[in-house]
Amino acid sequence: MIRLNDLYLCIQGEGCLAGTPMVLIRLHGCSVGCSFCDTKETWREDDEDRVFTLREVQTEPEKWIEMEPRELAVAACEIRQGAKWALLTGGEPADQDLRELVGYLHAYGFRVALETSGTARGHVGAGCNWVCVSPKLGSSKPVLTDVIEHAHELKMVVGKPDDVTKLEALLEGSRFQGTVCLQPMSTNPEATRFCISTCQRKGWRLSLQTHKWINER
Ligand code: SF4
Repeated sequence: MIRLNDLYLCIQGEGCLAGTPMVLIRLHGCSVGCSFCDTKETWREDDEDRVFTLREVQTEPEKWIEMEPRELAVAACEIRQGAKWALLTGGEPADQDLRELVGYLHAYGFRVALETSGTARGHVGAGCNWVCVSPKLGSSKPVLTDVIEHAHELKMVVGKPDDVTKLEALLEGSRFQGTVCLQPMSTNPEATRFCISTCQRKGWRLSLQTHKWINER
């Protein structure tokens, strides 16, 4: 069974796949516990917040539901319109074993993208088409070296120069071959200027939260 927090059709706003229509599958639960988390509603796994219909999950942020992987893939199909991608996010989606769900999503013709903090391996062996690791440096759980090395994208939220120093330390000695994206925290102007100059200097890519400009989730 998969614990689900939300399901909706979106336009990916961030990172290398920005602008792509995706069915966003927000999984419930996270073992990382970042102080700055903007999806804390996914943390609580109390039975009192558990519901039994998709509609309740889609309208009440803190509610969650357990679904069979196939049932969830079918629900994603029903809202996809022309979207070719499904996005697994959270919470921390890799805290759950994703292999069966990804298998069904592939069977229904989706390409599957994953956004993870890189602290868990529930996606390993699932065959995700795009893995974006967004490291939460300074949180209690370490980012796993092997997860980074097999990722396509490393997206770092940057609020201050020290965040880039920590990212460089993470990459040092790593065999990561993908694209590094810097994303200014909360579209802060100072952080944005710093990200622009760092991307220009390092040949990295700038990620902006474009969905916020168009009032999308
Ligand atoms: Fe929130 Fe993501 Fe950190 Fe989990 S890993 S606490 S969902 S920011």
